[in-house]
Amino acid sequence: MSVAASSDIHQRIPLLHKRLATVAHKSGRDPAAITVIAASKMQPVLMLRTAYALGIRSFGENYVSEAVPKIVALGDLAISWHCIGAVQSNKTHLVATHFDWVHSIDRQKIAVRLNNARPAHLPPLNCCLQVDLWSASSLTKRCGVSSNELADLVAVTDAQPHLRLRGLMVLPPVDHLSPRTIFAQLADLMNDLRSSYPQLDTLSMGMSADWELAVAEGATAIRVGSAIFGARPPITDDG
Ligand SMILES: *Cc1c(COP(=O)(O)O)cnc(C)c1O
Repeated sequence: MSVAASSDIHQRIPLLHKRLATVAHKSGRDPAAITVIAASKMQPVLMLRTAYALGIRSFGENYVSEAVPKIVALGDLAISWHCIGAVQSNKTHLVATHFDWVHSIDRQKIAVRLNNARPAHLPPLNCCLQVDLWSASSLTKRCGVSSNELADLVAVTDAQPHLRLRGLMVLPPVDHLSPRTIFAQLADLMNDLRSSYPQLDTLSMGMSADWELAVAEGATAIRVGSAIFGARPPITDDG
């Protein structure tokens, strides 16, 4: 790691925490109630150690085959590991074995498989359901459960003894004109669900470019990559 890269993350993380406190207070929210998940795809283990030393305790990984060796290599640290990428059914066993959270459940089959694969000695796997709030009205590829299939997925996930349903997640298209509208819709959906599922407490929304808007709309977990680590190397297809 170059000196420049190392000094960058040393500045970015304290700046992010400071900015989060300011933005939370502006919305009348407690910054301590908002978890920063460092989206660490493509980042080497050493960079994650640096982030941990600077106070990051939650890491989000997208690609299971990339994540598992990192989770093993960092087993000496008290990290909460979040699976934030699409979950393929042939990866549910690895996800259920190695992660503490999954943000991206999008269909019943995945929920059932994660439940069946969760080892008995571990606490229930914390789960968010990824909701697609836009693709019906655009050409964007579907990404998450549609809002009219959500109630069934909530019921099935909640019924799994080795899963703990915590809330909802959204990933707006990068070119979306108004991510704030999508964040507000997700918050409304969760409010509605809470009348039947009062234990829901997690709204996973907001990334480097839009997390301030997400916090203003009630995000309890923001997934931040480049604002912590700097620009990512180009994506390779290793998922
Ligand atoms: C990469 C990623 C992020 C973070 O993206 P940045 O724009 O770098 O903050 C958040 N959520 C998901 C699902 C991601 O894949």
